[in-house]
Amino acid sequence: MSYWNAMGIIKILGDTASTVEDLSFIDIHEKNTTLGEWMPLPGADVIRFNNYNFVDMEPDERKKTALHEVGHALGFEHHDSGVMKQGRFKKTSLDSHIKDDYKKYWK
Ligand SMILES: [Zn+2]
Repeated sequence: MSYWNAMGIIKILGDTASTVEDLSFIDIHEKNTTLGEWMPLPGADVIRFNNYNFVDMEPDERKKTALHEVGHALGFEHHDSGVMKQGRFKKTSLDSHIKDDYKKYWK
């Protein structure tokens, strides 16, 4: 969350007793190739991380997956490079084109 929050427009906050939950995170265990997925739902959206694959992933691959799925929750679609590229690879930062897209989308 800190990477997305550092963009300075949308603040992703933890829940408190007085806030409405917009996004939930759950772990699943499904024997397929899914690493994570964002599910837009009525009420809070859900991001699911698949522990079936996460247990074998490097920390920076998990970080990329988390950045990617939160990117979907923020309205971004797949891209041929950077954090919104599909697949299992290491990524620990937001690339310049997603930062540019973020500023245009959320201004
Ligand atoms: Zn995706």
